[in-house]
Amino acid sequence: NLSSDTDFSGIKERTLIAVKPDAVQRRLVGEIIKRFEQRGFQLVGLKMLQASDKLLSQHYVSLQRKAFYSSLLYYMTSGPVVAMVWEGPNVVRSSRLMVGDTDPATAAPGTIRGDYCLHISRNVVHASDSVEGAQREISLWFHPSELVDWDVCDQKNIYHL
Ligand code: GDP
Ligand code: MG
Repeated sequence: NLSSDTDFSGIKERTLIAVKPDAVQRRLVGEIIKRFEQRGFQLVGLKMLQASDKLLSQHYVSLQRKAFYSSLLYYMTSGPVVAMVWEGPNVVRSSRLMVGDTDPATAAPGTIRGDYCLHISRNVVHASDSVEGAQREISLWFHPSELVDWDVCDQKNIYHL
């Protein structure tokens, strides 16, 4: 179907992926980047940082009343995080599927959580859960000048342009 093949809306969709402190300590940064790169998504922002309580309280604002909230902040500030912005068609939905269920106990094998962790309190990676949420989170974690608009040379082979 020509019209659906030529519907390029959503190609510039972006999401925030963060390699959490447990995964940085466990040397899983390369493995996690590799999965998004090999899938065909495009890296448009990348940095390592020690996240502050302030940043995390904004990032996890919807979880502030949860019983696990203070342990979540302790976990997320226990060491450096690698924050990334990935771009591509339906990247928000696809990356949630690649990351797997929040609870590694039910995350499917083949997903990042299903392959690399066991417990919900140390689940190795963050992925935004909606397009609006992704925009909000990207603006919290990155200054616009830290995001790079660039053309990848093999787009034709990946997006069927
Ligand atoms: P996500 O979008 O899959 O990361 O899940 P949520 O947005 O619901 O929760 C954010 C993060 O809080 C999760 O990735 C976990 O690190 C943590 N979390 C969620 N639920 C629990 C829980 O029941 N116990 C603990 N210890 N941490 C949790
Ligand atoms: Mg979430």
